[in-house]
Amino acid sequence: MVDIKDGQFFKNTMQQLDSAAALINMDHVAHERLKTPRRSIIVTVPVKLDNGNVVNLSGYRVQHNQILGPFKGGLRFHPDVNLSEVTSLATLMTFKNSLLNLPLGGAKGGVRVDPSEMSESELQRLTRKFTSEIGPFIGPDKDIPAPDVGTSAQTMAWMMDTYSTEFGFSQTGVVTGKPVEIGGSLGRESATGLGVVYTIEKILATQNMNIENATLAIQGFGKVGMHAAIEAHKLGAKILAVSDISGAVYNPEGLNITEVRQYLKEHKVLNGYPGAQSISNDDLISLDVDVLVPCALDGVIHKNNAKDVRAKIIVEGANGPVTVEAHEELTGKDVLIVPDILANGGGVVVSYFEWVQDIVWLFWHEDEVRSKLRTIMHRSFDKVWEFSQEKNKDMRISAMGVSLTRLEKAMKLRGQA
Ligand code: NAD
Repeated sequence: MVDIKDGQFFKNTMQQLDSAAALINMDHVAHERLKTPRRSIIVTVPVKLDNGNVVNLSGYRVQHNQILGPFKGGLRFHPDVNLSEVTSLATLMTFKNSLLNLPLGGAKGGVRVDPSEMSESELQRLTRKFTSEIGPFIGPDKDIPAPDVGTSAQTMAWMMDTYSTEFGFSQTGVVTGKPVEIGGSLGRESATGLGVVYTIEKILATQNMNIENATLAIQGFGKVGMHAAIEAHKLGAKILAVSDISGAVYNPEGLNITEVRQYLKEHKVLNGYPGAQSISNDDLISLDVDVLVPCALDGVIHKNNAKDVRAKIIVEGANGPVTVEAHEELTGKDVLIVPDILANGGGVVVSYFEWVQDIVWLFWHEDEVRSKLRTIMHRSFDKVWEFSQEKNKDMRISAMGVSLTRLEKAMKLRGQA
């Protein structure tokens, strides 16, 4: 097995931790504690295929830190899943939940599998087996998984059902991101995109600009990008371009997002949308817009294309869309980058709301969810912005600084540092 510390993602995560710890002069014991997870669970997941064969898959749940509350983080089904990646993602969840001031720790899980190659019934058997294997370690007060890459509300429904069956009673609070019919929260689906837009409002305000009439280019038109586009469009922003894996569509007068969405529904891809010019995803990154919003993949803005970026603001809807080298080059040119752990935090905030609603069995209207989400996103943004102004540092290290300050305080209060 590859050593956890050899993964590039893990190295980058540790580098972020070390720089921010140095900036806040963090207690040595607290800093060291955050470098390793509390618990890493590795399981074998035997899955009977439809053809009668059995495959033994590798599954992981890494529980990084629970100083602030129960472990919380997504579950990923992807062929590249490995212990190093899951550990890095679990560590980032600790930082994100602390930054957003949620009463939750950080965790992540994954199964090394290509879900697109499995039938619905194979996926169900896989999910149920994995849930049984990690069952003793999860629960509404212990660790609460949620959907991530390759998993969905349906996956969470199967997880909840398996856990509840073994427990003997319905346990809706064991996972979040469930369908609303079985204890999910209204507004969960659009939460991350909505949070991205609330963040865009705030960063524009720091430049004395308003989202109304601001120009945006959004890469990725999936769960994050599409909802960000819909919401920003409603608030009067001009979305000049959006994209998916088939390429980008561009209209200098602003796209009609309702029509684009309808086109995607009918044609499955954006390519060919008649109300715009077709451009490439690389062209989208170099458009002259107020805000560039990468909401697709990691590493899309890198050392080779950073020089082409003309936007003065980048808001990271995706996880890790700007590489370390590109970040240095862009911040050197005074481009403001709102980091992922802040900008895409809306999903876990509404997951937190879902968990609370499941515990008290009282469900909120969507307006209430949105209004509470806006308050948390704006408050978190303000904290990071104030920190960055006070220390004269970029927002990425400032977000980590705010997060680590809270974690350090909690560890000291609990006598762990
Ligand atoms: P998704 O699968 O719903 O959407 C991804 C979009 O990116 C699709 O439109 C897809 O066509 C497009 N895409 C794929 N490959 C591309 C390529 N090579 N070039 C351009 N576009 C491409 O995924 P999502 O849930 O929207 O997640 C997007 C990013 O946001 C990921 O980095 C994810 O980790 C992060 N994120 C998601 C959530 C969430 O709640 N969904 C929360 C936090 C962070």
